[in-house]
This record gives sequence, structure tokens and C-alpha cells, in this order.
Amino acid sequence: MATIIYDNETTFDALKDKIIAIMGYGSQGHAHARNLHESGLNVVVGLRKGSSSWAKAESDGLKVMTVEDAAKAADVIMILLPDEKQSSVYYSQIEPNLKSGDALVFAHGFNIHYNQIVPPKDVDVFMVAPKGPGHIVRRTYTEGIGVPGLIAVYQDATGKARELAISYAKGIGATRAGVYETTFREETETDLFGEQVDLCGGISSLIKTAFEVLVEAGYQPEMAYFETCHEVKLIVDLIYEGGLERMWHSVSNTAEYGGMTVGPRVINEESREAMYDALERIQNGEFAKEFILEGMVNHPVLKAMENQEKEHPLEIVGKEIRANIPWLNKKIDDD
Ligand code: NAD
Ligand code: MG
Repeated sequence: MATIIYDNETTFDALKDKIIAIMGYGSQGHAHARNLHESGLNVVVGLRKGSSSWAKAESDGLKVMTVEDAAKAADVIMILLPDEKQSSVYYSQIEPNLKSGDALVFAHGFNIHYNQIVPPKDVDVFMVAPKGPGHIVRRTYTEGIGVPGLIAVYQDATGKARELAISYAKGIGATRAGVYETTFREETETDLFGEQVDLCGGISSLIKTAFEVLVEAGYQPEMAYFETCHEVKLIVDLIYEGGLERMWHSVSNTAEYGGMTVGPRVINEESREAMYDALERIQNGEFAKEFILEGMVNHPVLKAMENQEKEHPLEIVGKEIRANIPWLNKKIDDD
């Protein structure tokens, strides 16, 4: 079982005299920078000259510098750039500005675990990974709560790496919900597995396939959308709040009996084998290699698949339905 660290066991002592650079001001970057700043810590944001986020970070009250200058100024450097860009930015702009005893921090183990970044031996390397999207990390912090987080130490040059990780986790609000200790390997492999087979890949394929079956069988796309997509949230909310038990309790006996008997026929032994196959490709580095090469040629496969996804009938009817429901009629970036 994992070790869990809660807020009342933690302090800011390890970080209070340090300068923390947050590289990137995207989903995670803006949340970490603002939360740490409001926790009273010394934060600078590292960005490219001309980045559209530069003015945004400044108007959020933060000091902004180039990545090089921020790396030079900081003792603790959190890299919140897209995973596939981290290695080139690290080698060209961060590593030349590291000093002995600095800390390199990640929110995902990918680049360390798959050998894309090999830091010098005299710096601390650790991870603080909130288990939630950046916008939720920010919103929950302002509400006085937080999302749970993971910490892991990869390299402890100063003897302070774990303490720094815990202070950092406190600064973004994660200790309020509990921080769990893990390793770079475990976080990387489980994170990739979850997003591929369950959270992003699994659920989107389940929704699309169920939608396609109903529409192909002659039902109206609107009915298919409500049934296979819209209601997913209502069911997942129940599971999130009280586990499967709460969900089974809330639905009708018909839904409970049908769900329990038919679910395992749909997600069946073949699906289990596909999950093991996905896990093996994560563990042996094949997935990482594929994704890194895809990034090096500017994501041709990802771009093509994004375009195909936009044209899927589920997306088209979904857009129309949501446009008619005022509180769902928001752009992706409104949040
Ligand atoms: P993002 O794409 O939202 O933001 C990346 C930021 O980097 C942007 O501000 C972008 O302008 C900046 N950037 C891109 N290229 C740059 C360059 N060459 N120089 C300087 N700045 C550059 O990324 P994200 O989703 O916040 O992911 C950051 C890290 O957090 C990743 O390691 C990811 O795995 C991890 N993570 C993300 C989430 C999430 O919910 N998004 C959750 C947990 C962990
Ligand atoms: Mg994840």
C-alpha cells in the first residue's frame, strides 16, 4: 500500500528561501505558478520570447523571463512543457544553466523514465504530479481544497529531494487531498496505461462504438448521443462520489441486472488481452518510441486522427445538442 502524506504533516521550510521556476504556462503551468505564488513562495515563469502566455502570466501577477534566464535564476525548476518538447528545451536552454544542488522537477515521469532527459548527478530530480487536469488544480486550490498528488524521487543529490517534493505538493494544494509516494517508473507506466485503455482511449472508443451501433441500427442520432455519451457523465459522477456501489444503487434494477450481466460480454477477454498488449508496449518502451518519433516529425498521425474525430457523426450531433443547452454551450477554453 502507498504511503500517504497529508497537509498537517507538512511545512514550506524546504522551499521558503528558494526560487522556483515554472517552465511553461499551459494547463499545469498556470495552475502550479499561481498556486505556489499564492502559497507565499517565490515563483518565476519561464517562457519563449513572443509567447502568447507571456502577457497572461504577467497579468496574473507573476514575474516572467525566458526559459534560460528562469533556469539561471531558480533553485527549483519545474518543467511543464509538452512532454515531447521537454528534451530539446532542456538540453538547449535549461541544462547549461543548472548549478550544483538545483532541483529538476517533473509532473510526469515520461522523459526521465524513457531516457529523453538524463540530468547531471549533482542535481535533485523528483516528481510532483497532480492527479487531475491543470484547470482543476487551479480551481480547487482557490476553493480551499486540492486534487490528490503523487511524488517520487529519482535522484537525491542534496538529501533534501523528498522534503522539497512534499513542500512543493503543499504549495499547489495537493496535500489537502493527500499525496501518495510512487516511483518514476510506476507513475509513467500507470499514467500511460490509464489514458490509453481507460480514461481517454477506452472511454472514447466505448462511446463511439456504442453510438455507431445504435445509428447503424436505424435509431435517431440524437437518441444515440444522449444514451451513449451525454449520460456517461451522470454515471461517472456517481462512481466518483461513492464507487460502483453508489452507481448500482442509484440506477434501476433493470439497469443493474442488465449492466452486470452484459457489461463483461462487451469488455471481455479479448479486451483484457488488448489491455495487456497496451501495457507491454508501455513497459518495453515501444509506445514511447512511437510517440517520440511522431513528435519529431510534427505529429502527422495525431493531426490526421484529430481531423477524422471532428467529422465523426457523434461529434456533429453532439455539438448541435450542446448548442441548445445554454450551460453546455461553452468553448473548450472558457474554463
Ligand atoms: P500544455 O501543452 O498545456 O502547456 C505547455 C506550455 O509550454 C505552454 O505554455 C506552451 O506555450 C509552453 N511551451 C511549448 N513549447 C515551448 C518552448 N519551446 N519553450 C517554452 N515554452 C514552451 O502542457 P500540460 O498539459 O500542462 O503538460 C505539462 C506537463 O504536465 C507534462 O509533463 C504533462 O505530462 C504533465 N501533466 C499534465 C496534466 C494535464 O492535465 N494537462 C496532468 C498531469 C501531468
Ligand atoms: Mg494521467
